[in-house]
Amino acid sequence: MKALAIDLGGTHATCGLVEDLTILAHQTLDTDRAKSLSGVLPRIAESFRELIQSRSLTLSDFAGLAVGFAGIVDSRIGQILATNDKYADAKEIDLSAWSRDSFGLPLRIENDARMALLGEFHGGAARGFTNIVMMTLGTGIGGAAMVEGRLLRGKHAQAGCLGGHFTVLFTGRRCNCGAIGCAEAEASGWSLPNIVNDWPGASESALAMRAEIGFKQLFEHAAQRDKVAMAVRDRCLNVWAADAVTLVHAYDPEIVVIGGGVMESAEAIIPYIESYVVEHSWTPWGKVRVRAAELGNNAALVGAIPLLSESRP
Ligand SMILES: [Zn+2]
Repeated sequence: MKALAIDLGGTHATCGLVEDLTILAHQTLDTDRAKSLSGVLPRIAESFRELIQSRSLTLSDFAGLAVGFAGIVDSRIGQILATNDKYADAKEIDLSAWSRDSFGLPLRIENDARMALLGEFHGGAARGFTNIVMMTLGTGIGGAAMVEGRLLRGKHAQAGCLGGHFTVLFTGRRCNCGAIGCAEAEASGWSLPNIVNDWPGASESALAMRAEIGFKQLFEHAAQRDKVAMAVRDRCLNVWAADAVTLVHAYDPEIVVIGGGVMESAEAIIPYIESYVVEHSWTPWGKVRVRAAELGNNAALVGAIPLLSESRP
């Protein structure tokens, strides 16, 4: 079975052609400056046309279109319910109609971390487990949970997917979501430049000279023993680790899988979070595993066919 798949994140849209658990071809569009989703959809359609042509395929080869979206999504009605400071028009767009008109294909849409969890469950780090928590660390912090083999969705489609908005510091920074001290406000791509700028001594840090302050730059300068970079990195690690403990306490998983753009520095992240989780979680049954996503940035695309094959929740 072949499908079209889109991973729609905060700063990118990755379009892929997938066959079962294999990605045949993919293309990533930079959407950092895009404000409206309606402005991005024609670029996505064009990207798919190019990909399909490059593989000498036609639309009739594909069974459907699966979309992973970084926001609150109700897959039962195929609708985006809420977005976080990006794509404010998404709630008004009938994506099923767009998919029918553009490709003649049925559409399934799901929260991007849930789709990534499906990918890791079927073809990645969480194979063989049925109780799984997924964290995606990037522009924001995504989350998803599978309990006893079923993706957790909940009454309002937001169960398990707000792991980035667990409070880690009630006196902390205001989050885009309206709460205070969310993990995402304390350690994510969008909040990192403010965190660095507010850090004591920031102006003497090599980070202050960088045009862009992302986790790539943070980990680079921390490895070069820049004091501010080391302190901010260690704080972010503790925020993620505390968030992981809360996720473990909330969802009782056997394994926590961590993905997202930050995993380029996985060797500096996974061992720290795992030892913190083992030390601080109340799990009398044993030790929770913490593993890097095996599928990397492609996890959501690999979850496309499992999502399309799932009976409607
Ligand atoms: Zn929040």
